[in-house]
Amino acid sequence: MAAALSLDQWEARAKALDYRHLAFIDGRFVPALSGKTFPRISPIDGGLLTQVAECDASDVDVAVAAARKAFEAGAWSRAAPKLRKKVLLKLAELMRRHGDELALLETLDMGKPIGDSTAVDVPSSANTIQWYAEAIDKVYDEIAPTAPNALGLVTREPIGVVAAVVPWNFPLLMTCWKLGPALATGNCVVLKPAEQSPLTALRLAELASEAGLPDGVLNVVPGFGETAGAALGLHMDVDAVTFTGSTQVGKFFLEYAGRSNMKTVSLECGGKSPHIVMADCGDLDLAATKAAWGIFYNQGEVCTAGSRLLVEEPIKDAFLDKLAKVAATIQPGNPLDPATKMGAMVDQKQMERVLDYIEKGKDDGAVVRLGGKRTRQASGGFYVEPTVFDKVSPKARIAQEEIFGPVLSTITFNGLEEAIRIGNDTIYGLAAAIWTKDIDQALKAARRLRSGLVWINGWDEDDITVPFGGFKQSGFGRDRSLHAMEKYTQLKSTWITIR
Ligand code: NAD
Repeated sequence: MAAALSLDQWEARAKALDYRHLAFIDGRFVPALSGKTFPRISPIDGGLLTQVAECDASDVDVAVAAARKAFEAGAWSRAAPKLRKKVLLKLAELMRRHGDELALLETLDMGKPIGDSTAVDVPSSANTIQWYAEAIDKVYDEIAPTAPNALGLVTREPIGVVAAVVPWNFPLLMTCWKLGPALATGNCVVLKPAEQSPLTALRLAELASEAGLPDGVLNVVPGFGETAGAALGLHMDVDAVTFTGSTQVGKFFLEYAGRSNMKTVSLECGGKSPHIVMADCGDLDLAATKAAWGIFYNQGEVCTAGSRLLVEEPIKDAFLDKLAKVAATIQPGNPLDPATKMGAMVDQKQMERVLDYIEKGKDDGAVVRLGGKRTRQASGGFYVEPTVFDKVSPKARIAQEEIFGPVLSTITFNGLEEAIRIGNDTIYGLAAAIWTKDIDQALKAARRLRSGLVWINGWDEDDITVPFGGFKQSGFGRDRSLHAMEKYTQLKSTWITIR
């Protein structure tokens, strides 16, 4: 990527952008069979970015057929791992080479700060593709410890045609969390990006083709969930669905599988993660900084957002004062300005949903301590102030339901038992954190918090080597790490009789 660009330079590049706006099927860009398109409205200023092909069930049929043909042909699915490695490494390199363009597309499409797109989303996405590329020729199959008159081979095979359905909050990164392990293990993929954020996926497919991915191995069908998404879920020739999105839609995919061909389903869904601060927290300043970024990063549109602040009663006021100081430095601005730390909500609907939750919070008796309003209205874009509620009841709607915006609900407690009880008291179980100097308390909490990720004295530590995913209605199956490959492979047992 180039050296840091200014706001003017990013805006000039945005004007000159050539959007990929057609579906990508069997190695080429094609319009939707119906000829329909849908508008991509910029969250930054409400202006039209481009019209995108609106795929439906008939386009999904064509894409799945292309993926099946490619899978059966075997140029990818039966290729030596080192060949798949070479192509995916080339893709990672191309992503880096076109990093500024991908970052710009991501920011224009979903409103996150350009500094985050360039420093986090694009490099992490390229690293993910690279990591699975490098892993694939280092994973061995097994020979079972059977009696000596037989040889039991336990091998992993690609599942076949994988449908990847992804959300809009980290469009490129979530896509790569799916594509890295799915492609590395030899599957062919039909990807449906969220209707709010299809632009990076389309450019990525083109780069993958340039990197040498055979036609039909990666297909992208932009369109709406109720049509293109449902068609993938219900398709009789899709072998697996890998989904990231809301819990409500995750449940639809379980139904779709039951109503069609029992395809395997893995779900990365919503969260309402507790950020627990004990009175004996060793570093309140650090905890307050992490708690603020834990909810305001990416405009709060993060599945693991620490949206419930559970703070022990005696330190609550001091802690909220510190948190407010940090929040004051994370105010919404133009996402194309490199100085901006918080961008726009993805669209008007999401902004209104967040503002509606702020009203619900007040109605339920919570007190707005900070923010609470729409801002930067004159820009035409969709911005909400970082918002902190105090005196939230653990059963209030803003303490139970995923808002997916910059809204923090503060709940007080006394003692670890109460913290764990409140922490576990939601339908979700994605992430949790505890801040304490007492190692026994920390480990007790880590064991008893019902969530797939627990941070002790930190927030949002992450690494591609560590699995990511939830308990309870936050889903099942894991992204990242070698464990992610389990979702995209099936075990075969082959017996050889020795006479
Ligand atoms: P969403 O569930 O509305 O949409 C996700 C995807 O599903 C989109 O591609 C959408 O078009 C599709 N879809 C929507 N309705 C559908 C239907 N009826 N049938 C088939 N497909 C359908 O989620 P979103 O609003 O795009 O994203 C926000 C959600 O994603 C939040 O709940 C967030 O927590 C979750 N998320 C989870 C993780 C994780 O790893 N656990 C990561 C990021 C986001």
